[in-house]
Amino acid sequence: MEKNKLKGIGVSPGVIAGKVFLLSGERFSIPKREIFGGEVAEELARFEKALAQTTEEVVQIRKKVAREIDEEHAHILDAHLLVLEDILLIEETMKRVENEKLNVEHVFSRVLENLAEKFESMDDAYLKERAADVRDVGRRVLRNLLGRERRSLSSLEEEVIVVAYDISPSDTAVMHKEKVAAFVTDVGGRTSHTAIMARALEIPAVVALKEVTANVKRGDRIIVDGTNGLVIINPDEETLKKYKAEEAELEVMERKLEGFKDLAGQTPDRHRVELSANLEMPEEIPSILSHGAEGIGLYRTEFFYLNRTDLPTEDEHYEAYKYVAEKIVPHSVIIRTLDLGGDKFLSQLQTPREMNPFLGWRAIRFCLERPDIFKTQLRAILRASVHGKLKIMYPMISGVEELRRANQILEEVREELLTKGVAFDENMEVGAMIETPSAAMTADILGKEADFFSIGTNDLIQYSLAIDRVNEKIGYLYEPAHPAVLRLIKSIVEAGHRQRIWVGMCGEMAGEPIFTPILLGMGLDELSMSAVALPKIKKVIRAVTLKEARRLVKEILTLSTAKEIEKCVREKLTKAVPDVLIQPAGGQ
Ligand code: PEP
Ligand code: MG
Repeated sequence: MEKNKLKGIGVSPGVIAGKVFLLSGERFSIPKREIFGGEVAEELARFEKALAQTTEEVVQIRKKVAREIDEEHAHILDAHLLVLEDILLIEETMKRVENEKLNVEHVFSRVLENLAEKFESMDDAYLKERAADVRDVGRRVLRNLLGRERRSLSSLEEEVIVVAYDISPSDTAVMHKEKVAAFVTDVGGRTSHTAIMARALEIPAVVALKEVTANVKRGDRIIVDGTNGLVIINPDEETLKKYKAEEAELEVMERKLEGFKDLAGQTPDRHRVELSANLEMPEEIPSILSHGAEGIGLYRTEFFYLNRTDLPTEDEHYEAYKYVAEKIVPHSVIIRTLDLGGDKFLSQLQTPREMNPFLGWRAIRFCLERPDIFKTQLRAILRASVHGKLKIMYPMISGVEELRRANQILEEVREELLTKGVAFDENMEVGAMIETPSAAMTADILGKEADFFSIGTNDLIQYSLAIDRVNEKIGYLYEPAHPAVLRLIKSIVEAGHRQRIWVGMCGEMAGEPIFTPILLGMGLDELSMSAVALPKIKKVIRAVTLKEARRLVKEILTLSTAKEIEKCVREKLTKAVPDVLIQPAGGQ
């Protein structure tokens, strides 16, 4: 990779070039001084005043977020309020001021850093990210103790790209949104606040760039490619021109695509494909609705578990599912039961770490061994089913016995509820994800005992091609159009249809326009993807007849490699929908 090109994780798609606003000045030096016995009370009073002042600030920010964005995003600031009420943090600081006779800002900054480091050392990605909350709110307290003004994003005068170590909820809350074109950060992942906010605001974002803040200064020009997770610093004129052209093209395309949001996913010869969205966190619901999703095809509930130190209670599950069901009704929501394991660990439950976590104790295997945890979730889903249209789907089924055991546990929960007279939707569909080669090859058997299939290509590809999906080194081998993968998909759809059940797809492949004609021609009934991909997929579906798609499938099944297949589809699609298949400059 070139020196001025950094690779991170693209968490919100789109391309934009712009000027850097380096959100810095966050670290300021904390004075250390000894105090006399008589000053202790004064120090403690200052501390209490700063805590109260900070609480008031955060409450105001929370109100602003609830007003200007929505209540879901405002909840993020509740984590900050909790830090401000943390008895251990407060008492430890006070005790140490008294014992060590040192000024309160010095003591508080040390206690705070200790707590943040404890979070950082945790295995769980979500908890690790909570260290940022602790530091963020702690800095507010310190600023109030020191009487410092904060450099904020509220008074931006020109459009900028915000570059930061991390972007905290309180930064985004006061942010002048019209002036922010993209986010770029050193740290973060798909579940970090920066990612959630960027997706909700629909601006490009790249996180986990490690050292971007060390490589840029205020006013530098950068290109942010949120689709491919790339940042190019001070690009030459030629690169800039290339990206500018692409940005303009994407803008025109986006505008044109807006007209597709409310149209059905229907081919010119009137074949309907249901188009739904994947949901990780309820914060994404407004974007899902505004992109014209016909329901949620995959609700990844494990994020609900990762978001905490303890296990969610049945009522917490229930409230979350009820909320989503009510927001999405009259459309349906497919709740995938807990898919822990692989790269999503809950450290307190899954120790020790395994040698091959993707082949290990994950998803349904974990749930069948822990029926207590599984039943809590199932009970909540059943109870919430009266508030909308819910469906259940089990992840990582590798044979019919697992499906039977899962259904048996579900049946026990149903009976419990019936005995207690608790209402639930008795006709709720229960399906299986097809994401292991063994499930794909026994789809005819599974289809007899499932109400639907949803193909999880992210895993199906990794297992069938033996390519670790998170290992960058072999990323070039991760080919959705590999003939082996396409043959498997085709056979799953045929097996499902022979059993008269519908077959959907919720892996990333479902949201890639280049594969749409293939999936259409193979007869997929539903495609579920990240909300932003919906309009372009609709556009492709509305431009290709089922007849043409079927012919294309026949043709590509005679080809030998993924490259040949992609070339063949691209050539055809470039003619049918020239503005959908723009390849981002720079590539992966
Ligand atoms: C998949 O494997 O395709 C899928 C949708 O599940 P996840 O990405 O959560 O493993
Ligand atoms: Mg999967």
